[in-house]
Amino acid sequence: MKFSVITLFPELVLNLSKYGVVGRAIEEKLADLEVFNPRNYSDDPNRRIDDRPYGGGPGMVMQFEPLQKAIRHAKGQTTNTRVIYLSAQGKPIGHSDIGRLSSYDSLILLAGRYEGVDERVIEAEVDEEISIGDIVVSGGELPTMMLIDALIRHIPGALGHEESANQDSFVDGLLDCPHYTRPESIQGLSVPKVLLGGDHQAIQKWREKESLGRTFQRRPELLEKLNLSDEQKALLEEYIQEQLD
Ligand code: SAM
Repeated sequence: MKFSVITLFPELVLNLSKYGVVGRAIEEKLADLEVFNPRNYSDDPNRRIDDRPYGGGPGMVMQFEPLQKAIRHAKGQTTNTRVIYLSAQGKPIGHSDIGRLSSYDSLILLAGRYEGVDERVIEAEVDEEISIGDIVVSGGELPTMMLIDALIRHIPGALGHEESANQDSFVDGLLDCPHYTRPESIQGLSVPKVLLGGDHQAIQKWREKESLGRTFQRRPELLEKLNLSDEQKALLEEYIQEQLD
């Protein structure tokens, strides 16, 4: 999958290719990351790409032309693509969006700065606006990097053998179970006994119960969307009873 990022801070975004799962996937050419700086598409002698907002008010706005040229240049190098503007005013991103966007060969991701981009860029060039949540950050680079990271985790082979996206929160509609590693006991806190016993069936059952219980406690609205089996309902009952005891 190819990611083309339109950004005033290319170095910030390129840092993605240096670390961890994402860095490895890019190195192994499972994903491709390219950056386009709108300043390189500006006709202004000082490479300016922003101007004051019509109607007055604080802040600056990113101009139409350099952004359109950068987006169109990126588009010319891709097929089966979608242009996304990372924006606080977009649809809040969820797990289903990751599956949906994975079907594209490439994504062009527009990272705004200042007060945002001239609205006409969105009208003329953008297919959808995506938000990382009801907060405002200073630029679209970090939201873009989050989206790229989440999408790369879904590329077959991007995760190491020992890491599996299938166990992650939201994949089956539930939150993940708790995890522990050595030592067995520290500062009076112990690993649940079932995880030490080697009974894989019992471990699997415990994990599913914890997953259901956590989701019930922390994100009950997720459970409402699921059709729990009788076995899952019984496990959740068991969890709730254990909490009450
Ligand atoms: N004036 C804008 C508003 O209130 O909607 C906020 C502009 S923000 C300071 C600058 C840039 O950060 C935006 O153009 C957008 O690209 C990015 N941004 C800010 N918050 C975001 C969010 N929650 N999700 C995605 N991108 C965001």
